[in-house]
Amino acid sequence: MRLSFHGAAGGVTGSCHRLELGRRQVLIDCGLFQGGRTPQEENAAPFGFDPAAIDILILTHAHLDHCGRIPLLVRRGFRGEIICTAATRELARLVLLDAASLNEEEARRRGRRHAPLFDTLDVMDSLDRFGRIARLGEPIALGPGVTASLHEAGHILGSASVLIETGAPLPPRRILFSGDIGPRERLLLRPPAPPAGAGIAVMESTYGDRNHRDLDATVAEFEAVLQRAVARGGNVIIPSFALERAQEILFVIGRAIASGRLPAGLQVFLDSPMASAATRIFRRHGAALRPEIGALLERGRDPFTLPGLHVTRDAAQSRALGRLRGGAVIIAGSGMCTGGRVRHHLRRNLARAENAVVFVGFAAQGTLARILIDGAPSVRLSGEEIPVRASLHTIGGFSAHAGRDDLIDWHRRAGAPGRVFLVHGEDAPRRALAGGLEPAEVILPALHEGWDL
Ligand SMILES: [Zn+2]
Repeated sequence: MRLSFHGAAGGVTGSCHRLELGRRQVLIDCGLFQGGRTPQEENAAPFGFDPAAIDILILTHAHLDHCGRIPLLVRRGFRGEIICTAATRELARLVLLDAASLNEEEARRRGRRHAPLFDTLDVMDSLDRFGRIARLGEPIALGPGVTASLHEAGHILGSASVLIETGAPLPPRRILFSGDIGPRERLLLRPPAPPAGAGIAVMESTYGDRNHRDLDATVAEFEAVLQRAVARGGNVIIPSFALERAQEILFVIGRAIASGRLPAGLQVFLDSPMASAATRIFRRHGAALRPEIGALLERGRDPFTLPGLHVTRDAAQSRALGRLRGGAVIIAGSGMCTGGRVRHHLRRNLARAENAVVFVGFAAQGTLARILIDGAPSVRLSGEEIPVRASLHTIGGFSAHAGRDDLIDWHRRAGAPGRVFLVHGEDAPRRALAGGLEPAEVILPALHEGWDL
C-alpha cells in the first residue's frame, strides 16, 4: 500500500492525494492550482500518475482547488467513479461549469493560439463520471477489502473528511483524509465530526500558525459597520465569494433585521449569478446545515431571504445599481475583486466618503482587494483613476478554515492518529502546526512524494 501527494504539498491549492491499495487506486480530490507564479503550467503538467489507472475518486468538497482538475483527469483517460455527498455533487457541477465558461471566455479574449485549460464539454464528460452519493457515516465498498466513509468537515456545504479502511486481503489500515476543516463555530454548518481510530491522518494546515477572531465578535463588528454606513446615508459594498460566504452574509443581515439591529427596509442587492445559484442549492440541502437552520427550511422559512432583498439577473440590472446614491448594501463577486461585477460597484462607490467597503474574506497579495486593504490612495478601474475616500473595513473572523487550536482539537477528536501527513498549507503554518501535534510523527510531504504504509 502506498500514499502519494500530487498537489497541495507545500502550498494551499491543487489538492490531489493517491492511495495504491493492492490493484486498486483511489484518489482523494483532484484540485486546481491557483495563484502561484505559473498556475497555467502547474495545471497543464502531468499528474504524476496515469489517470486511466485510477478506479475511484472521492471528492471532499466543491471548491475549485479540490475539484478543478477533474475535467483534465477525464480528458487524460480517467474512466472510474467519482463519489461525494449530494450537496458537493450539485455545487461541483455549478463550480466546474462556471470555471469552464470563464476558461472559454479567456481563451476567446487571448486569441486563437490559446486553448482553454478545459471547456464545457470536458465538464459534461466529468459529470458523467459522478456515481454513488455518499451519506455521512455510511460505509461504501470500494473493492476487495477496501471501504470508505465520509464525515462532516464543517468547511462549506457538503464538505466531508474521508476515512479509508482496509482489511484482508490487504493489511489492516485506517487512513483519515481531513479535506478542508471548518472552525468549530460556524453560522450555517455543523462543526466537524472526525471519526476516531485512524492510525494515519492526512490533514490540512492552512491556518496552522494562528487563530481567528471569535465569531460573535466578528458578527457584532460586521453589524456595527453596516449600521454606521446606513446611518450616514452611504452604500455598502461587500465583495464576497459566491459559495458559503454570500449565504452567511445574507443570513447575518437577515438575523440583524429580524432583531431590529438593522432597519427592516434595508435594501440589499445580491449581484452575483453564481451566488444566487449556490443559494438555491443551499435551500435544497437543509439536512446538511445546522439543525436549527435545516428546521427553518423544513417549515418553509428561508434563512437566505430578506424583506428588502433584490437578486439581479443580468448585466444591465447590475449596471443600473450604479445609480443608487445611498442606503443600499450590494453583495457581489469576486471576493478578492480580481474580476466580476464588484469592480464596477467599486468604481461607482469608492470616491464618496459616506460609502463603505467591507472585506469579509481572504485577500491574496497582488489582488485589488489586498491593494485597497493596504491603503492605496487611488486605484485604476476601467481606465479611470478612482480616489479612495470610502471607509474600508476588513472583517477577518468569517473564515471557512479552522484556526490552529481547532486543528489541534480535530486531531485529538480523531483519536490522535500517530502518523500525520500535513498538506494544504504554506511551509510556515504547517511547520508551526507540526509542533502542536506532538507526540505524533508528523511528515511534511513534497509534490509527488510517496510513502509505503
Ligand atoms: Zn475548501
